[in-house]
Amino acid sequence: MTDSVALVTGASSGIGRAIARRLAADGMRVVAAARRIDRLHELAEESGGAIEPCALDVTDRDAVRRAVDDLVARHGRLDVFVANAGVMPLSRLDAGLVGEWDRMIDVNIRGLLYGIAAALPHFHATGSGHLVTIASIGAHAVSPTAAVYCGTKYAAWAITEGLRLESPPGIRVTTISPGVVHSELAETISDPHARTVMAEYRRNAIAPESIADAVAYAVGQAPDVDVNEIVVRPVRQR
Ligand code: NDP
Repeated sequence: MTDSVALVTGASSGIGRAIARRLAADGMRVVAAARRIDRLHELAEESGGAIEPCALDVTDRDAVRRAVDDLVARHGRLDVFVANAGVMPLSRLDAGLVGEWDRMIDVNIRGLLYGIAAALPHFHATGSGHLVTIASIGAHAVSPTAAVYCGTKYAAWAITEGLRLESPPGIRVTTISPGVVHSELAETISDPHARTVMAEYRRNAIAPESIADAVAYAVGQAPDVDVNEIVVRPVRQR
């Protein structure tokens, strides 16, 4: 993977930060993108220069396009785009938190689509590239309080699978669906009921490095091998 270049969205905490660290440790140049730029500067410093910070809101279509184009202008290539940024403000539908539904749709679906729109022209220009979507086990099953979140993750799964089916040989597409993982994700929950349920549910969380391992596995395959999907759950999560 040496000399390859990756962009990881949502790299300021949790799974995205672990992915950025892991890909950098495996020899890639990594552009770590998120809104909290101070966190990204810390990550970059700790990496000794292998990771570059990039202030980015994935809901800003033009900004996503600019970030990818700038990266390609500076490095001459984009090998891997990890669409990881996500939010999960869970609540029952009858709580009516419509603004939070919108935010999940904007970040988890539109953010992914804007990433695909920005990366694909470069992938097609070179005939190679790898999109890795961090979906969720919420892309495979729905649970109470998670209707909208799961809806966005089903959508992420479907969009990524559609891209895989449409892509020419040379372009690889992977969906990774984590179970419960230690991160800051539950901090986006404002609904008190959902927060309590989630606190119990998250007791079995595994380390974000386990998801980074899965990304590294998919990315590290021979160019003619496409790992389509990986589901990684805690052993205790049935
Ligand atoms: P965190 O809350 O720790 O990380 C979420 C990341 O997304 C942060 O870096 C945050 O950065 C970024 N983000 C949020 N909104 C935006 C935005 N508008 N623009 C750019 N970046 C944004 O949670 P996780 O690490 O757990 O989440 C990563 C992914 O993994 C998500 O897609 C989540 O749905 C998925 N996932 C997580 C599971 C878990 O149990 N932890 C289980 C299954 C899936 P910043 O705020 O600085 O912009």
